[in-house]
Amino acid sequence: MGLLSLGTPLDWHESKKHNEHVRDNGITQLINIFRQHYNRDNDKFLWGDEVEYMLIDLDKQSHTAKLAIDKDYVLDDLNDEAKSLPKAQENNVLFHPEYGRYMIEATPAKPYDGGKLEDYVYVEENMIKRRDLSTDELPPHIKPLTITAFPRMGCGNFTSPPAKPIGPASQSLFLPDEIINRHARFPTLTANIRKRKGHKVAMNLPMYPDKRTKLLDDSIPVNRQLFKSDVEPHIGASKPGHVYMDSMGFGMGSSCLQITMQCENINQARYLYDTLVPVAPILLSLTGAAPIFKGFLVDQDVRWNVICGAVDDRTFIEKAQEPYPNYHLFGGLDINEKENLQVNNHSVNAYGDLQDLYTKDGKPIQTIPKSRYGSVDNYLGDHKFDTSYFKDSFNDLNAPINSKVYKRLLNDKSGQFDKHLANHFAHLFIRDPLVIFSERIDQDNNLSNDHFENLQSTNWQTLRFKPPALYESDADGKVDFTNKPGWRVEFRPMEVQITDFENAAFSSFITLLSRAILKFKPNFYIPLSKVELNMTLAHKVDSVLNDKFWFKSMDSWNIDYHDFTGYDFSWFDRFLMEGNDVLEDGPVYLKGYASSASLAAMNGKTNGAATQAHSGQANGSVAASAKGCEGKTVEDVNDVDDFGIDQRYTLHEIINGDGKFPGLISLIIKLIATELVPESCKHCPDSNCARTLIRLKYYLMLISKRASGEIPTAAHWMRHKVLNNPAYQQDSKVTEEINYELMESVDNLTQMKDKELVTEFFGEVISDYLLRNKAPI
Ligand code: GLU
Ligand code: MG
Repeated sequence: MGLLSLGTPLDWHESKKHNEHVRDNGITQLINIFRQHYNRDNDKFLWGDEVEYMLIDLDKQSHTAKLAIDKDYVLDDLNDEAKSLPKAQENNVLFHPEYGRYMIEATPAKPYDGGKLEDYVYVEENMIKRRDLSTDELPPHIKPLTITAFPRMGCGNFTSPPAKPIGPASQSLFLPDEIINRHARFPTLTANIRKRKGHKVAMNLPMYPDKRTKLLDDSIPVNRQLFKSDVEPHIGASKPGHVYMDSMGFGMGSSCLQITMQCENINQARYLYDTLVPVAPILLSLTGAAPIFKGFLVDQDVRWNVICGAVDDRTFIEKAQEPYPNYHLFGGLDINEKENLQVNNHSVNAYGDLQDLYTKDGKPIQTIPKSRYGSVDNYLGDHKFDTSYFKDSFNDLNAPINSKVYKRLLNDKSGQFDKHLANHFAHLFIRDPLVIFSERIDQDNNLSNDHFENLQSTNWQTLRFKPPALYESDADGKVDFTNKPGWRVEFRPMEVQITDFENAAFSSFITLLSRAILKFKPNFYIPLSKVELNMTLAHKVDSVLNDKFWFKSMDSWNIDYHDFTGYDFSWFDRFLMEGNDVLEDGPVYLKGYASSASLAAMNGKTNGAATQAHSGQANGSVAASAKGCEGKTVEDVNDVDDFGIDQRYTLHEIINGDGKFPGLISLIIKLIATELVPESCKHCPDSNCARTLIRLKYYLMLISKRASGEIPTAAHWMRHKVLNNPAYQQDSKVTEEINYELMESVDNLTQMKDKELVTEFFGEVISDYLLRNKAPI
């Protein structure tokens, strides 16, 4: 996460003096980047994934599972030429630091090729290698697991070795500073967020209400007097009935799965970015894997809002919130103090500026509706691409902007920043830099992009639009772009999945979907306010089963649904078994594989299967006591908007289609069939290519069955495991023992050791295949 410069990170009170300097120079760097790369074209579609792991100490003797905070040396070893780096390189794997000292991140060393079918499966091989290589470096009881949130983070002795929550960086009542990465950037980041904000971050998650749940977070110390901030939960920071968390680590100590894709040019990247924006909450819901925080089952399934809160550096005034008693409205901002300032007595202009309020360096103080970690606030616009679907009215969040930056970009003589691009960057630049390194204050703006990246990489949105870096030019003023990353789009909402199979499946799904988007050019634009609503829905327990999400009405996608007939799961079988991939509307095809019937055929059930799953009968489903599984939880609003352009759909409809219209999976299958299958692969059931196609089919099947509710999401499965653990007291508490058993099951699943477990998690069809084919080839 973010930029790791070497050097001395400045404390907030020192660093804030350089905020405007970093912003000004960051924008100069951005302008230089545009000058160097704006016309760059025909870059190859390359892609890569990032997986974040947690090192879990699984102690079979004491039946405890803890976060290992003394094994971060593995990262050094895996990056050490004299130790394990050569092995990692041989396997095309790279390891990186993450926020938690117990975390490691791993990526492929070289990107995958989007034009190669086999790379969509090789991703899994690469992920398996990463897990193997890191496991090899660790003692046998330490497991690199891909869980989104550690269930007992912040509960008593949750680390190995133990550490006390008395650290000055976070001042947390629950998390010791020893969980934070040792690189000075991370504790400084933690402390600077708190110092800028003027109080600690505060996340309150609703408790999952079970029969004996006391709607009270009894883990909050009543009268610790170590830091002044210790009183915060008692003066407004904690909410009754909620699990209270007070530190960056609760959020940035969570893990996710991210995908970065390189586009042909900037205009293609803008269209892809925009088109994936409405897909983000859909994938957040579908990958939901975080039902437990701080030892409590919570009434939500995902990590997202926890991280939003965990890095929310806004002051009370910026949040338009009354300060706690005796706390400062302006937090740690450098202002010319005025007397008697109140929250609501300032008018706000069109940029979000509070009139007549400035920091000492002249920057207007603003009302800022969202944290710097959040869903996308502005589309970029596609009017320079072939599609031109975007309308100004889709950017309806009125996100504040830095007007100085906006004007500078718009007036830049290159003319490369149209109002949407200017608006996008001007919004990112409303934020202050969080960590500045003293050695990096003065930079060569023609060669360095550090100041730009400082702001860019601490705006953590569902999508990130990534410009290239700056490069030295040759004597003729030219830059050779070969092997130099170009215009990229990063997809960031997904929660990390338990197994490599699932992480590969979601990585390939998003990348294939992106390629399908670029090929078929659908129109997915809906107003961002609806995407925001979807983000809220995606948090809900089992939103996959119960909720309907806003999406572009399927008959407004601007694609002809007839073109996708037959591109369903039956395509794989026809192609491989029968050599019949002719998709004319011939009688055999129409009789044999009508698209609406084929999903049911794939499920081995009648068409009622999905409906049944939706009523809570899914494998591993939460027992009848579970709130949210009975009846609808869809808000009482119309399913179609006033113009008939956006509609609310279940995830099942969006992913699997609605019988008449193709879902996202059909787009992907048609892409595979028409663009990715190499000539040499035609109809050869036993070849490597066939095995690749079959694995891809199972990846898509995983996503299809999760969306239809036939098999559980990771969150659903974990909640079910807790609720059905004999030691569970129906009080929403996840004890050490329950946690141990859950982590043990996760470890077993990861290794696909236990047939019963694998079947419970993946359903019969996928587990049959997986138990016979653990690894791709
Ligand atoms: N771990 C963070 C998450 O779960 C992302 C950090 C990063 O951007 O690498 O979203
Ligand atoms: Mg990361």
